[in-house]
Amino acid sequence: MSHFHEYYSRAQAIAQTIFTHPELGYKEVATSKLVEREIQRLDPTLEIQHFAKTGLKITFNQGKSKTLAFVAELDAVYQPHHQDADPQSGAAHACGHFTQTTVALSLINELVNGKQLAQFATNLSFIFVPAEEYVDLPYRQQLRAKGAVSYFGGKPEAMKLGVFNDIDFVVCIHAIGEEFTKRTIELNCDLAGFNFKYYTFKGRAAHAGFDPFSGVNAYSMSTLFNSAVGLMRQQVKDTELIRFNPVIIDSDMSINVIPDQLKLGTDIRYLNADYATTIMQRLDHAAQGAALALGGEVAVETEVGYLPFIQNRDMNAIVKPVYDANDKIEAIITDRGAIAAAGDIGDLGFMMPAIQISHGGFTGTIHGPDFRLIDPEFVLEILPEFIFDSMLAISQQQAEINFFKRSYSEYTAALAKMEVEQ
Ligand SMILES: [Zn+2]
Ligand SMILES: [Zn+2]
Repeated sequence: MSHFHEYYSRAQAIAQTIFTHPELGYKEVATSKLVEREIQRLDPTLEIQHFAKTGLKITFNQGKSKTLAFVAELDAVYQPHHQDADPQSGAAHACGHFTQTTVALSLINELVNGKQLAQFATNLSFIFVPAEEYVDLPYRQQLRAKGAVSYFGGKPEAMKLGVFNDIDFVVCIHAIGEEFTKRTIELNCDLAGFNFKYYTFKGRAAHAGFDPFSGVNAYSMSTLFNSAVGLMRQQVKDTELIRFNPVIIDSDMSINVIPDQLKLGTDIRYLNADYATTIMQRLDHAAQGAALALGGEVAVETEVGYLPFIQNRDMNAIVKPVYDANDKIEAIITDRGAIAAAGDIGDLGFMMPAIQISHGGFTGTIHGPDFRLIDPEFVLEILPEFIFDSMLAISQQQAEINFFKRSYSEYTAALAKMEVEQ
């Protein structure tokens, strides 16, 4: 007899509390405290490890050789127009992370109050990570400048701190940005990686009416760059899932002055790191060409984001029969391939086998103003039980997994490849 039904009303209350108190990454203080209090209530003997300001980790150590981790994200996204947004910070749980955290607590409750822990052929860790959403960057830049964190993403930060050193494989979950008529999960959906590029076009200010001849127009350079990039799309292979979205992020323009400076930023989303560096090089060349054509200059900056996420097929092959045996989840998607959304699970999946089981149960636009949970029974009772059964199967059938473990320095080397300005 499992305890998921018994815990369901408490899970609903916890999910609602987190949903209505959204916090941005590295600021999830109240959420982290709530999780800590609930873990202490469930089992005061569990030792809680703190990391990266708000991160938490507990381990059920059974003296096994391998440790399987469930990873949940604590943070909200920036969406000030959401009906339950925090009016001060603009944070809103428009990405569904509040249910990940609650599902993790439901799994811990089952391990503490149920009798199945000994059936797991691994140790089990639960890791609550801060800052998955790549938002609120000025604050994170401050944190980084002070040396409080090294990464904008909570999972890379935890990797640097050694939180995953004793972990061998990872399960996480995520809401799908679609509404389904049937209770649906998804396996094997890969995610893109991304980097940010910044181009600061520099010209020379002059009176726009009296003496435009002496000016060098930074806005015109950015327009030329945008035209080049638009035409360049024809040369980008559509199999590579490349996306870029150049936008003006900083300018100080007035109508009667030739603008002397304008900063433009774009993401570059990709599946293949080598191809991404080729595209970034072309963008750099387009920016340099646009500046040169009009007699100005451009400064180029690169901010490395998250790596692409390749789901571990061996682990998902173990999960599929668990779905087949489950009569409460009605539909499964297994053939979507890859999508251009990204997450720092990509960085973790670079280090060790990892899967992200996606699921429905929500309505509205993900990251949008109307995103919310509509099927709590599925997400907070049926899904946790399914995840529990899946983790049990994964632990017991670990011989079917081709394990790999990359070091933190291999990870930083993969990032460094992206940082080279062309
Ligand atoms: Zn998100
Ligand atoms: Zn998310």
